[in-house]
Amino acid sequence: MTERPAAALRTEALEQLLTERGLIDPKTLDRIIADYESDIGPLNGAKVVARAWTDPQYRRRLLLDGTTAIKELGFSGSQGEHIVVVENTPAVHNVVVCTLCSCYPWPVLGLPPSWYKDPAYRARMVREPRAVLAEMGLELADTVRIIVRDSTSEVRWLVLPERPAGTDHLSEQQLVPLVTRDAMVGVAKVQPL
Ligand code: FE
Repeated sequence: MTERPAAALRTEALEQLLTERGLIDPKTLDRIIADYESDIGPLNGAKVVARAWTDPQYRRRLLLDGTTAIKELGFSGSQGEHIVVVENTPAVHNVVVCTLCSCYPWPVLGLPPSWYKDPAYRARMVREPRAVLAEMGLELADTVRIIVRDSTSEVRWLVLPERPAGTDHLSEQQLVPLVTRDAMVGVAKVQPL
């Protein structure tokens, strides 16, 4: 059992107060949060990945200075001041965790999903990443080197997933919907068509 952060308690108290006064509808609020978790947030990251897959120069800039290259596409702000982008290849697989709390690159991925904040994910991903990834449905060959990236208040990681086979004919815009949040955290691969 982890202690709930003061900010979470304050937020809950505020939500309750606003609901009681009839100023907000908690259902609408839940929907907005869900949108940020799974659609709006990760869509920004997907645009970054699709650009990197189709523009080698952009890819270079992105891997050299993630924050600046991401800003080029118009994504910046809170919790995205220092984003480092790491590339997954057939030989190396990066996966992101925040062992301390739930640091996450908001401008490109939105709000973290609940499993990312789960104490078990945070503790086990560091100790036995191969096993945790397999449980999440990603079986990696023993020959693949796994690098666990621990997010902090200084550095937020974004994974540049491998472009799947069979997508050579797709345009940047057509690639965007293939890129999932989970692939950009490194707990999944982008699936071929
Ligand atoms: Fe954190």
